[in-house]
Amino acid sequence: MGFSRVLIANRGEIALRILRSLRTQGIEVAIIHGREDRTSLPVRLSDHAVPIYRDDPLQSYLDIEAVVGAAKSVGADAVHPGYGFLAENPTFARRLEEEGIVFIGPSAEVLELLGDKLQARSSMAAAGLPVAGGSDHPIGNQDEAKSIAKEIGYPVIIKAAAGGGGIGMQVVESEGELESAFRVCSSRAKSAFGDGRVFIEKYIQNAQHIEFQVLGDGTNAVHFGERFCSIQRRHQKILEEGPWLDEETRNTMGAKVVDGAKAVGYSGLATFEFLRDSNGEFYFLEVNPRVQVEHTVTEELTGHDLVSLGIKVASGEKISLSQADIRIRGHAIQARINAENPFDFSPAPGRLWECLLPSGPGIRVDSHACSGYSMPRSFDSLLAKVISHGGDRKEAIARLDAALMETVLDGVETLIPLHRSILKEPNFQNRNVTISYLEDHKLG
Ligand code: ADP
Repeated sequence: MGFSRVLIANRGEIALRILRSLRTQGIEVAIIHGREDRTSLPVRLSDHAVPIYRDDPLQSYLDIEAVVGAAKSVGADAVHPGYGFLAENPTFARRLEEEGIVFIGPSAEVLELLGDKLQARSSMAAAGLPVAGGSDHPIGNQDEAKSIAKEIGYPVIIKAAAGGGGIGMQVVESEGELESAFRVCSSRAKSAFGDGRVFIEKYIQNAQHIEFQVLGDGTNAVHFGERFCSIQRRHQKILEEGPWLDEETRNTMGAKVVDGAKAVGYSGLATFEFLRDSNGEFYFLEVNPRVQVEHTVTEELTGHDLVSLGIKVASGEKISLSQADIRIRGHAIQARINAENPFDFSPAPGRLWECLLPSGPGIRVDSHACSGYSMPRSFDSLLAKVISHGGDRKEAIARLDAALMETVLDGVETLIPLHRSILKEPNFQNRNVTISYLEDHKLG
């Protein structure tokens, strides 16, 4: 059973990306929007647009009953949540299910399980994935924190069980810092997620962030190889690329993530995130149960339209691809063009007087930006993603740099100067990159 009409419960570049996949499958596109987005590109291009205006612009995309009401009012068969907002919200998935509307993503139960980093860690450890040493339950008090940290050895990292977006995370070098870090993490977790539970994990030094793209259909699962995402500011990625591993390691780790997805009966797109230490050991971090910003890198490498595959699985289709059908071709790099100051990363939204996006061989741009677009202040600063694909890494770097050189986004500050410095920097060029890369290199 294919869908006839799908509601997009998101905005910006990902709303446009989802719209494109729906259109290519002949599915009618409905979309919700806040007041600030009423003239945005995805709203203008959709077949049906449902306004949800709120004083707090975020609430337009977070009000579960209003979004469910919008889906019912347009007669949508399914809702695509994109990333962020309600994408990982089990209550939302459950409410849609009650109304007989499909949530494009995993079941509410799987969202609940994976949304809790502690539960996710233990279920993935049981499925055979390597996890870092740490507590297997929430830390109750300072004394318990001290004894666990002592047992696994400093440095440690304190994280929110319900965490996301790097919020609250505290690296602790020695026992003297533990008490205040514990307090800061749990109070930030409480205010950001309404859940103050925290746990301790071994801090992996000189780590690289490597993640695997997975698709499951509830029974079967396949992986699409890895992405390397170590260029991060405040624990958030700004540049992603692939491939990174040799074939043998990819096959070994790929088989493990497929086992992990099957163990929880995963349905839809997912990303399994890992840290890898300087000895080449992997440590499972979390599963992101949704499409990711950097899915584009994998689409370029494999030639598969991942967003469409996720929609098909949600409509009840089984995966028709075998693992052997999925091949990695060349090298791809994505630069996130955030409207931010490239030195201190402070948000810099504004009106785009002129917007000229790059093109040419091996260049893809996913963006909702256009000349005259006024970026609302209340949302994420991601304005465009420029993705290059080349025969090898050197060609992908050269193509990306040339593309960034021709990109014009007049009216806002962007990360383009920082990306261009990274692409020229010798350690980056020699693949000498860990998650502390941006702190270690004064670029911009
Ligand atoms: P979130 O869900 O908040 O994004 P993650 O667990 O996915 O948190 O971690 C995000 C980033 O935080 C990682 O890519 C890494 O930079 C850092 N990090 C998390 N856990 C560790 C760890 N155990 N050791 C070192 N760095 C870590």
